[in-house]
Amino acid sequence: MTALVTGAGSGIGEAIALRLARDGHRVAVNDLHLEAAQNTAARINAAGGQARAYAADVSDEASVAAMMDRVRAEMGAPGILVNNAGFGHQALFLDIAPADFDRIFAVHVRGTFLMTRACLPAMLERGAGHVVNVASQLGQIGGVELAHYSGAKAAIIGLTKSLAREVSARGVRVNAVAPGPINTPLVRALSEEWKREKRAGLPLGRFGEPEEVAGAVSFLVSPDAALFVGQTLGPNSGDVML
Ligand code: NAD
Repeated sequence: MTALVTGAGSGIGEAIALRLARDGHRVAVNDLHLEAAQNTAARINAAGGQARAYAADVSDEASVAAMMDRVRAEMGAPGILVNNAGFGHQALFLDIAPADFDRIFAVHVRGTFLMTRACLPAMLERGAGHVVNVASQLGQIGGVELAHYSGAKAAIIGLTKSLAREVSARGVRVNAVAPGPINTPLVRALSEEWKREKRAGLPLGRFGEPEEVAGAVSFLVSPDAALFVGQTLGPNSGDVML
């Protein structure tokens, strides 16, 4: 099956792409940055998998349409879509510029909408498919200086549940993961003080690794997860227990 992973040039997306390739899927590796996508695709191909790199901005309708035309022609319509592309931004509520608010929602929410809209028709036609959205535990509990980011991630969880209600009976399973702090460039950029305090407060006592989120995604798209519909799994070191 062809799996398309967005934002797969780094961090969690890269680990998901590598894992799905190891699980036997052909992988369309998307990123905003072509070189990053190419690096991930090269790692997959070097390990004996099958991958191609595609640069596109998931928040841009024309960019998504052009990428999807190429993916369909070169790899076949994706049976698995992982909406992972994203970025972090912190500011106190009154300091969030409208442009920063719009960009967070554009990449995370509109990007998830546009990519899913592009991939869903072929899945429905086939009567089979998987969508996994990468949310965040911040979409469940909120965070100081993160109203825009948390709001966008909460929107992704709502979108996941609504779409799952619409399409599950037609063979398409839609789920989300809401990671806690994961050791990626996004988190490595945060202050040492924040990381020390955060780590100390985690029941597991450590941040997650990208591969550990990839394992949850691999499970969600496997037959073992047949009963998981509209769920949000929490690979979060015990930070949030629902
Ligand atoms: P990362 O910065 O390592 O990787 C994100 C990738 O997405 C980058 O390669 C970037 O170029 C790409 N990207 C950004 N905007 C894009 C766009 N418009 N179109 C296509 N690609 C785009 O970050 P990460 O930590 O691996 O985060 C991946 C996802 O996981 C994000 O959605 C993030 O919000 C979420 N997340 C991360 C953590 C964490 O602790 N790292 C926790 C919870 C959720």
